[in-house]
Amino acid sequence: MTANQKHVTDRFGRTLRDLRISVIDKCNLRCTYCMPKEIFGDDYAFLPEEELLSFEEISDLASGFAKLGVTKLRLTGGEPLLRKDLGKLVASLTAIEGIEDIALTTNGILLVKRAKELKEAGLQRVNISLDAIDDNVFKEINGRGVVAKPVLKGIDAAIDAGLDVKVNMVVKKGMNENQILPMARYFHGKNVILRFIEFMDVGNHNGWDMKNVVSKKEIVDKINEELPLEPAERNYYGEVASRFRYKDGGGEVGVISSVTDSFCGTCTRIRLSADGKLYTCLFASEGYDIKSKIRSGLAGEELEDDLAALWGRRTDRYSDERSSLEQPRKKIEMSYIGG
Ligand code: SAM
Ligand code: SF4
Ligand code: SF4
Repeated sequence: MTANQKHVTDRFGRTLRDLRISVIDKCNLRCTYCMPKEIFGDDYAFLPEEELLSFEEISDLASGFAKLGVTKLRLTGGEPLLRKDLGKLVASLTAIEGIEDIALTTNGILLVKRAKELKEAGLQRVNISLDAIDDNVFKEINGRGVVAKPVLKGIDAAIDAGLDVKVNMVVKKGMNENQILPMARYFHGKNVILRFIEFMDVGNHNGWDMKNVVSKKEIVDKINEELPLEPAERNYYGEVASRFRYKDGGGEVGVISSVTDSFCGTCTRIRLSADGKLYTCLFASEGYDIKSKIRSGLAGEELEDDLAALWGRRTDRYSDERSSLEQPRKKIEMSYIGG
């Protein structure tokens, strides 16, 4: 943090550190657990261009947040690489005082052409989603018949461009738990950290059920049988993944256990949706319409005060409370806020 950055805390004393920015709600895949093709079909009404925040609006908001202590940004979607000229946005975010880290979450398909340009614009890290290494399993999951190869090529392109690369795999029972070991084997010994994500009850259309969650323990046990693991220390406060190191020196894996071992106590993240709403929790029902406010002239210190007040009111701890909450409740779609 720089001396010019303030330190704002929510009602539970959690500081604001990370801003996740969804730049688009469209996607070139239809993953069954995120944008099932039955719902997100040809006639689905995606946001019209004018409803999306412009790069200038996103940068102004990121600058406001940086003054309040945000040091890390992540671009996501939908599929963020579908947003035209994303490199320009990365370059303008890189120039903001106080921003130390810019990352991207992508399905990787369009990375081959874009990795180098994004790195040159200032992108540091990329998380690439790949839920299976077996083509038939992957085709089934992504709803568009895409095989693993283009994603693997995207991963290689990102490494070659000098980006720090992690691969994210959502694990859902009956969908791809048979891919845990093949994925671990494939990335073992490569310069990539594979992270397993427990299937979460985000959005309203993915038919989430606790029965379909493969727990952190099950995932680690399965890998450990063949490729022995040992726990590794967290890298930094608020890191969401539990880290495990291969005992043979083949690198490490992570598990994001937001369901079976929640981490709301250290949650320092705020999310900006593609249509300009702020969400202080991934599972929020309502967003805070900051787009209307900035389009009506809110700017500068007044904007910062407004953002600080929003964070100051925050009491979210959905994952900690999940089992005692009334279900189902209306939630924002993952494709709007990007995880
Ligand atoms: N399209 C990009 C991608 O897939 O990486 C970025 C947006 S996507 C919504 C961000 C991440 O959220 C992906 O890694 C995806 O697998 C994850 N995700 C989506 N729905 C999920 C769910 N129900 N549970 C856990 N992770 C989910
Ligand atoms: Fe698209 Fe990412 Fe959702 Fe898959 S997880 S449908 S790639 S937004
Ligand atoms: Fe943060 Fe909400 Fe997730 Fe808890 S449930 S870790 S408050 S985003």
